[in-house]
Amino acid sequence: MGDEDSWGLIPRAKRIVLKIGSSTITHDGRLRPRKFTAIARDVAALMEDGLQIVVVSSGAIAVGAHRLGWTHVGRTVREKQAAAAVGQIGLVELYQRRFARLDRTVGQILLTRTGLEERERFLNARHTMLELLRLGVIPIVNENDTVATEEIRFGDNDNLAATIVNVVEADLLVILTDVDGLYECAPEPGEPRPPLIRTVEKITPAIEASASGSGSRFGSGGMVTKLEAAQNAARSGAATILCNGKIDGLLQKIMKGERHGTLFSPGDRLRGRKHWLTFTAKPRGQIVIDDGAVRALKERGRSLLPAGILRVRGSFEIGDSVRLVNERGEEVARGLVGYSSGDVAKLTGQATKEINRVLGYSNGDEVIHRDDLVLIGES
Ligand code: GLU
Repeated sequence: MGDEDSWGLIPRAKRIVLKIGSSTITHDGRLRPRKFTAIARDVAALMEDGLQIVVVSSGAIAVGAHRLGWTHVGRTVREKQAAAAVGQIGLVELYQRRFARLDRTVGQILLTRTGLEERERFLNARHTMLELLRLGVIPIVNENDTVATEEIRFGDNDNLAATIVNVVEADLLVILTDVDGLYECAPEPGEPRPPLIRTVEKITPAIEASASGSGSRFGSGGMVTKLEAAQNAARSGAATILCNGKIDGLLQKIMKGERHGTLFSPGDRLRGRKHWLTFTAKPRGQIVIDDGAVRALKERGRSLLPAGILRVRGSFEIGDSVRLVNERGEEVARGLVGYSSGDVAKLTGQATKEINRVLGYSNGDEVIHRDDLVLIGES
């Protein structure tokens, strides 16, 4: 059932994002040095074979809390942020030492969601990471917890890792976690393990049901965020493998073609810019459009012109991402606007040739150009 094809792609991957969960590299808040040794060995061996690897590692908060002598991982956001500031050093230091033994250099990258929302910063992050990879350096990425309030957070490193897949245009996301993969149903303590799902061609409601209920027991993000990450990676054209980080050497075996864990098939590649627009840029407001405009966008692949606009909700600036909704409030597309919300409100229902007269200037005929627009539910 397509099984051969999808697993067959894995040994051909050239660029990998490796997401390492706290449960893999820490135990009771302490770093597990032997695990770092094993991971470094795996990564270095694959680099010898010509692969490029970006590591996305959690563990800063857990380690920091332990170093501060806490019995909890931080009760408030501030405590967690303080713990992350303390723990991140220990985390990166250990990676550095283990990779140095193998003559490899690491670089630290701390990111927030808002940092990547602007196209320019996104491209900057891409260029830096690609340069590090070109230099043979292993980027070690984590969320910049110190500055990340709820608003601007990725929230979990599964999501962050999927974004990095898009940033570096990786072919494969490997998520190391504390279970063997996705089970057909949530495992119950004391019960035999339910069967593992080997290959997921498409994330269907049945697959989502298998993942739900396995929430808090599996690290901070839970199985649901791992599914989201796999889905987002697939939209960038990358496969995802979810496997057990407790087993040493698994990554090398997988890259040689052995089947371990659950493989999520890659989808058709959404162009990088469109992927960024859909998944990274945070929408600032809404433009309500009439059914004629919906058809023009969906069926004829047109840009959004002022004539089809009914209303504006929220406020946004030129270049922001906005949701386009139909008269029933359903999101039909997302795009980068050429005009601010105030100006779009003035242009509502106007003919294109009136733009200059109404605003006293023109940024072009399109409120959202086709190239800056992604249809929702059709990619
Ligand atoms: N950034 C957090 C940390 O390093 C982890 C977030 C997560 O586990 O998803 O502690």
